[in-house]
Amino acid sequence: MNHPKNESTLVLIKPDGVQRSLIGEIIGRYERVGLKLIAMKMIVVTREFIEEFYTLDPEWKLKTGEKNLKAYKDKGLTNTHNDPIEVASFILEKLKIYYTSGPIVAMVWEGAHAVAVVRKLTGSTEPVMSDVGTIRGDFVLDSYKMADDDLRSIRNLVHASGSVKEAEAEVGHWFSEQEIIKYRHVQEKILYDVNIDGIEE
Ligand code: ADP
Ligand code: MG
Repeated sequence: MNHPKNESTLVLIKPDGVQRSLIGEIIGRYERVGLKLIAMKMIVVTREFIEEFYTLDPEWKLKTGEKNLKAYKDKGLTNTHNDPIEVASFILEKLKIYYTSGPIVAMVWEGAHAVAVVRKLTGSTEPVMSDVGTIRGDFVLDSYKMADDDLRSIRNLVHASGSVKEAEAEVGHWFSEQEIIKYRHVQEKILYDVNIDGIEE
């Protein structure tokens, strides 16, 4: 069985995160919880690269469209479209504009339950509903309604993989094997070793 500490996940600081000068703040959030940074680069991408990225998961359109429709319903709002696939196709077009608007910082973080821990620290998709203390909750104030009315993507600073399966495919889309650096971090001893000894002099 693979130990939970070996899990890894993709994080992207989207163009708004870079423009808001939040690179250091965002990295610090993942760093201080105990995760290990194993790959990082600044990159400018094409629309095609983003289309491929969001369609790595054939279910993404359905899930994303349904999530959007549910958010509207929960707030008692009506969406002009009601087919989830159609809704998600619009979202994808907007995402291509958003992601190609400037440089992105792409990273791979490794550690116990990396996918769930990173999602927890990142916060939910719609910043106005994201918990206080999360990146999306603390640093931005966007909403589905405002983004949709203005015909643009939700600006929520960060992308984080949604599941272990999604993470594997996404890391492969953004990084080659050579770009991922396997190394030992001294703090792993205190985080994961069964016996902690040799500390006292
Ligand atoms: P997450 O990034 O939290 O996993 P999704 O995978 O559902 O969220 O959506 C991907 C990205 O698409 C979101 O982070 C957001 O930037 C954008 N997005 C999602 N839904 C909408 C929407 N209804 N209107 C505009 N942009 C959206
Ligand atoms: Mg997602």
